[in-house]
Amino acid sequence: MNISAEQITPVRIVGGGLAGCEAAWQAAQMGARVLLCEMRPLRGTEAHLTDGLAELVCSNSFRSDDRERNAVGLLHEEMRRADSLILRAADQNSLPAGGALAVDRDNFSRAVTRALEDHPRIEIRREEILALPDTCAIVATGPLTSQPLAHSIRALTGEDSLAFFDAIAPVVHKDSIDFSVAWFQSRYDKPGPAGSGADYINLPLDEAQYITFVEALIAGEKTSFKEWESSTPYFEGCLPIEVMAARGRETLRFGPMKPVGLSDPRSGRRPHAVVQLRQDNALGTLWNMVGFQTKLKHGEQTRIFRTIPGLQEARFARLGGLHRNIFLNSPRLLDSTLRLRSHSHIRFAGQITGVEGYVESAAIGLLAGRFSAAEILGVGILPPPVTTALGALLGHITGGARPETFQPMNVNFGLFPELTDGTRGRDKKQALAKRALADLDGWLEQFHPGDTEQNSSVVPISGSQPSPQRSPQ
Ligand SMILES: Cc1cc2nc3c(=O)[nH]c(=O)nc-3n(C[C@H](O)[C@H](O)[C@H](O)COP(=O)(O)OP(=O)(O)OC[C@H]3O[C@@H](n4cnc5c(N)ncnc54)[C@H](O)[C@@H]3O)c2cc1C
Repeated sequence: MNISAEQITPVRIVGGGLAGCEAAWQAAQMGARVLLCEMRPLRGTEAHLTDGLAELVCSNSFRSDDRERNAVGLLHEEMRRADSLILRAADQNSLPAGGALAVDRDNFSRAVTRALEDHPRIEIRREEILALPDTCAIVATGPLTSQPLAHSIRALTGEDSLAFFDAIAPVVHKDSIDFSVAWFQSRYDKPGPAGSGADYINLPLDEAQYITFVEALIAGEKTSFKEWESSTPYFEGCLPIEVMAARGRETLRFGPMKPVGLSDPRSGRRPHAVVQLRQDNALGTLWNMVGFQTKLKHGEQTRIFRTIPGLQEARFARLGGLHRNIFLNSPRLLDSTLRLRSHSHIRFAGQITGVEGYVESAAIGLLAGRFSAAEILGVGILPPPVTTALGALLGHITGGARPETFQPMNVNFGLFPELTDGTRGRDKKQALAKRALADLDGWLEQFHPGDTEQNSSVVPISGSQPSPQRSPQ
């Protein structure tokens, strides 16, 4: 007996932001019924200003659209190929912005809202969800998840599972560190549970370099706290580096820059101060500056941190920051298809999973929507290959990142496995992008785009033609 779409339990999606909207679209396009619950306008957040779905809370940019040299541009292209509603609405409402994809935020939000309202398999409900549902659901409530739901998530997943304040330290690409200066060593050569005794990258500063560095931190231009952030106190354990520096000239030397237990192999002596970097991903391509969370402006971070010996040519996969942000310890809690390991009827998507940015949030929504629909419709699907931007991002949050140091992350080429042919330098990104798109096309084939039954259930966005394929910038 054939079961019609109406008889199948709907995928319930909590949160109509970038991730929730993309998840709703993808699940409905696969043939599932969707119930999308958004709390605005009944209850607002500190950052949203409208009742539109997929509201952009700050910048109107989806960042670089260069699919050959920029990982987020590559992610755009992969999402276009996977019929992303967010990318389609962005392309249709784009504004001139050089190589970036920027949008008219109101028209963008309206286009997404209309497409979902017009979809025959999607019902939109304006309702605040106060506790985790006990039926199949995707939670995509973002960095400003309402308090009752945040408490419900924490009650189910454990006290230390959910971060409320995001203290981000910069992350450096290992291949941009000068190893004629840097060396590997753990403090006192301690191996630790899974270590070798040489688990950290160390960068030495002499006294003059240290004093100049501390003065630069204190003088550096900082970003101001938003009004609603300033009422959230700092935790002593994650003070911004410049706040520590301002407490006294020696504070950092007794804190994150302490040199004890370390000796510089070039001199055989203990340096005056040391910056330590800890491995940040399983591939070992990205390294986190330990204790360097900061409110310095991004340009200032790059300028000041490049004065650290060994980092003069550093490329940063992520710069530091500190703001209110609710996110899960996904590497510990989620399985490879974004389900809570302990309660597999609940899936998470968007920024709450520990990705950072509009595009990344929507990308995880795209995957969550497809995984949930496949499950409800009884179709088996494979996760995207780790060589794709979608797969690299998913792999990072569900296993590649270390649970102990997990912090939100933008997509970047450091998350991709190395090329097997050893291509390096300027050609490397293009080669990674080419491999990604070829592998993505292979992954998408499992959804049988040529299958007439599936195609007949696919709904075009109302009043629109598919956007022309953008050429690489
Ligand atoms: C202040 C701020 C500024 C940011 N600026 C940028 C930026 O400039 N560029 C960038 O790329 N990224 C930015 N981000 C990061 C992030 O990419 C965005 O927050 C992005 O919108 C995340 O998408 P999302 O779908 O996960 O969450 P959101 O887009 O926030 O969507 C979550 C939705 O869930 C709803 N909701 C919450 N709780 C409930 C509940 N209990 N029941 C029902 N609905 C609920 C909310 O109203 C919201 O509509 C910013 C984040 C913040 C907090």
